[in-house]
Amino acid sequence: MRILSGIQSSGRLHLGNYYGAIRQFLEFQDQGEALYFIANLHALTSVRDGDRMRELTQDVAVSYLALGLDPARAILFRQSDVPEHGELFWILGSVVPLSDLKNAHSYKEKVERGQNPDFGLFSYPILMAADILIYNSHVVPVGQDQRQHLELARDWATKFNRAYVPGYRPDDPEGERGGTPGVFRLPEARILEHTAVVPGTDGQKMSKSYDNTIELFGTDKAVRKAIMGIKTDSTPVEDPKPLDGNPLYALLKLMAAPADLEEIHRRWCAGGEGYGVFKQNLLDLFHATFDVARARHAELCKDPGQVEEVLRDGASRARALAGEQMARVRRATGV
Ligand code: ATP
Ligand code: MG
Repeated sequence: MRILSGIQSSGRLHLGNYYGAIRQFLEFQDQGEALYFIANLHALTSVRDGDRMRELTQDVAVSYLALGLDPARAILFRQSDVPEHGELFWILGSVVPLSDLKNAHSYKEKVERGQNPDFGLFSYPILMAADILIYNSHVVPVGQDQRQHLELARDWATKFNRAYVPGYRPDDPEGERGGTPGVFRLPEARILEHTAVVPGTDGQKMSKSYDNTIELFGTDKAVRKAIMGIKTDSTPVEDPKPLDGNPLYALLKLMAAPADLEEIHRRWCAGGEGYGVFKQNLLDLFHATFDVARARHAELCKDPGQVEEVLRDGASRARALAGEQMARVRRATGV
């Protein structure tokens, strides 16, 4: 089984990235051939400063390694080190209906939030589909926000296969019942339901671009500040606290072990304690969960040469796979 996923180097990694994506990546390392990339080409839509891009790209790599990605098992690489992604982006784009892009939720959401759309943001799902299809990935572990992009990747893979593979049958995409197998395998999203959308400190989806994150590797002070700044309502100290729509409760639920959560739930519903006490509980949980990785992160930051070596080695392994697939694509399309 081949597993693929990426994270943008558009900011520092946060709890949403960990629980929505990276935790699953780590589990998948043992289940097949895993490829994880740093999506720096995607990040160009929001980072327009070369030094910052280099720094963030390095930081995402360090973060993956600190959290337990093992380069002996999984392939870790920078998207821009495998230029075949960009080549497939163009070829795939020629079978993509414009209406699919106009209707993509994530594009519409970013535009509604006031981001001035450019072609990069608009065509983002095509590059993402190319990222996935170029490795013939079976499984793509992602957060809920990427579900639609995965569906689009499947639709376009089917369109391409229908156009270019004589004998391809959409009801038999792998050619197991007499059809011809497609050039592209149809990838499957793996979304963990209970952690599907991690809320940020303002209650909306936690996202690097929304300035509502709790960073995994921020300074102790910054982490404290973010957690103490989680938006709460004005329920008096003595009253039971509301469960719904409360990002503090949602984050406690995400991080606490089941037995501890029971106790937190009881205290939350009993009243008598203010939100500040629960914020301190969350802060303690954060450190108990991430301090080992945080120490490793600090160590790795001192050895950029080692990280660079991991990325170079990852790129050469990824390129070998991408090259084989591009040869099939070129044969099929005649370019
Ligand atoms: P950006 O704001 O630049 O889009 P992001 O914080 O949303 O950044 P991405 O690089 O887009 O991060 O996403 C990396 C992975 O993390 C994806 O699989 C995405 O689904 C997941 N993810 C991001 N935010 C959350 C969240 N709040 N809850 C669950 N999963 C998330
Ligand atoms: Mg995102």
